[in-house]
Amino acid sequence: MPILVMKFGGTSVATLDRIKRAAKRVGVEVAKGYDVIVIVSAMAGETNKLVGYVSETSPLFDAREYDAVVSSGENVTAGLMALTLQEMDVPARSWQGWQVPVQTTSAHASARIEDIPPANILAKFDEGMKVAVVAGFQGVSPEGRITTLGRGGSDTTAVAFAAAFGAERCDIYTDVDGIYTTDPRIAPKARKLEKIAFEEMLELASLGAKVLQTRSVELAMRYKVKLRVLSSFEEQSDEAGTLVCDEEEIMESNVVSGVAYSRDEAKMTLFSVADRPGIAAAIFGPLAEAGVNVDMIIQNISEDGRTDMTFSCPTDQVARAEKAIEALKDSGDVNFATLDVDDSVAKVSIVGIGMRSHAGVASKMFATLRDEGINIKVITTSEIKLSVLVDRKYLELAVQALHDAFELEKAA
Ligand code: ASP
Ligand code: MG
Repeated sequence: MPILVMKFGGTSVATLDRIKRAAKRVGVEVAKGYDVIVIVSAMAGETNKLVGYVSETSPLFDAREYDAVVSSGENVTAGLMALTLQEMDVPARSWQGWQVPVQTTSAHASARIEDIPPANILAKFDEGMKVAVVAGFQGVSPEGRITTLGRGGSDTTAVAFAAAFGAERCDIYTDVDGIYTTDPRIAPKARKLEKIAFEEMLELASLGAKVLQTRSVELAMRYKVKLRVLSSFEEQSDEAGTLVCDEEEIMESNVVSGVAYSRDEAKMTLFSVADRPGIAAAIFGPLAEAGVNVDMIIQNISEDGRTDMTFSCPTDQVARAEKAIEALKDSGDVNFATLDVDDSVAKVSIVGIGMRSHAGVASKMFATLRDEGINIKVITTSEIKLSVLVDRKYLELAVQALHDAFELEKAA
């Protein structure tokens, strides 16, 4: 039997009624002849609640117990989904991560999946079971402890199962009906994409589009898992949603496929840093150790042996970053004059594989922002994306103007 993976996010299993609706979707695929692996998230809001319990009980919690607690939301929905399917006379049972087993590293709270031996579940399919309902987000460490994969991790569970079982497709059911050219709440002209390439989706996910966990897209790209993102709230056809696929499967696409943003960014500059070999390592090593996710980095041309170093990070990591940098100054490892923190910036990015072969994309982006009177504070580029930092108050305007300028409302 061909295997299909269907993943239901928190809003799609938020109530018993919604679980029923999701189970019906599963029933439709079973009727088509698939053996189905269903991956479930916890009911919407449940994981946040559990995280809250943990930090209230123990601010500097033991990550192993954090995982024991926060993984439990998925156990509830997995069991309820299996029961709902059984009530519909669909042969189904639930599996917690350790039962499969989903073998992970022991990096608690952000474990990586190492292997998913398919034998146990395949044996049940052979016995006539039609649906394996698996609790997403969780696994088991080599030490035999429960692990979790990081917030949003059940997307990654779903893709990993699709790869391990050679599934025909991995359908991600969520509360939006696909991937859009940008956030429709900001630019009402945003258009749903029929297809998007893995690499573009990877950029969009890591640049702030929250539909898929970044790691799930990485995995899908590596194992060429066809991913479909679609709504669990609408009647679905086989062409519904957005297909995330190999770029060869996309005949025509716009030069720019989407505009992504991330609202809560901060820009920090060390002025007049003594420029010497090893200075970047001396600054960014301790920042990494402090758990600061540095994003953009700019080092200016130095003059008289001194330079300015600018980097960006999420606003909620500014305090940690400041502490690490002050410690550097105190230890004398890095000699600089002043530290400037601007925590009112946002990042706006344009993404598209067409940028590889088209000139003029950057100049069009810059001219568009100029025409709106928006000052660019930092620029970074890669082969298929261009990101700028702007004042947060211009975020919406920048997204709308870029969406208009690249005519993303029109399909190629
Ligand atoms: N329930 C977990 C979370 O909220 C995992 C997931 O839903 O993907 O992060
Ligand atoms: Mg999610």
